[in-house]
Amino acid sequence: MRKPIIAGNWKMNKTVEESIALSNGIKRNLFNINNLEVVLCPPVTSLSDVKDVVLDTNIILGAQNMHWEKEGAFTGEVSAKMLKTLGCKYVIIGHSERRTYFGETNETVNKKVKSAITEGLFPIMCVGEKLEERESGKTFDVVSLHVEKGLLNVDKKEILNIVIAYEPVWAIGTGKNATAEQAEEVHKFIRNLLAKKYDREISESIRIQYGGSVKPDSIESLIKEKDIDGALVGGASLKEESFVDIVKKASRVVKEK
Ligand code: PEP
Repeated sequence: MRKPIIAGNWKMNKTVEESIALSNGIKRNLFNINNLEVVLCPPVTSLSDVKDVVLDTNIILGAQNMHWEKEGAFTGEVSAKMLKTLGCKYVIIGHSERRTYFGETNETVNKKVKSAITEGLFPIMCVGEKLEERESGKTFDVVSLHVEKGLLNVDKKEILNIVIAYEPVWAIGTGKNATAEQAEEVHKFIRNLLAKKYDREISESIRIQYGGSVKPDSIESLIKEKDIDGALVGGASLKEESFVDIVKKASRVVKEK
């Protein structure tokens, strides 16, 4: 059975002090959750301190981005190895904000995915259509391109280290989440793509999480769906109460799933 994963993407929010306070609050409430993975992705400046807070708990550390090169003259960038040695297990790759504001493409996403795996990190690879693409009936084409190109030359062994986050761009930070049915339709489509590219057994073991305005009142219906294996949470992960609520509600549903 796939272990669901709920990750909080704090984006460019929280100073070190604020990150310590938030992660401590989350730890106090979620230390005994073990039927799903809880991942915190603070800004890079807070990784080291949050690592200390979650040490010896089930809470896992993740980063929000990385460069694909191992090292070198890339001012302002961080490598997979740097993140790994800071205690990260996961790294978000190809978030729509990176694609929109920082020129990331399916090609750079693919390079990052490959590099992350080589260094022993688990990529959370984001895919998803924009509003105009959904409205013009291109959702499946866009998602399929994101998946195919992002996973170019990723073999059967490597794919097992990847989490895919389906994040419809129109739902990110807008307060408008996809309905459980809309999300499940795309998750199922992605799982079928993976079955064609790899095989059915592999596709059944890969986690596909949903992201886009997930809140305490939407998590249950989403995670009840067969192919939705958790959530990537932005805005609602910045407050202890809402993130804890999301994880606890998800955990209850997972027990019965
Ligand atoms: C995200 O940042 O991946 C995200 C889904 O943000 P939000 O939950 O705020 O829509």
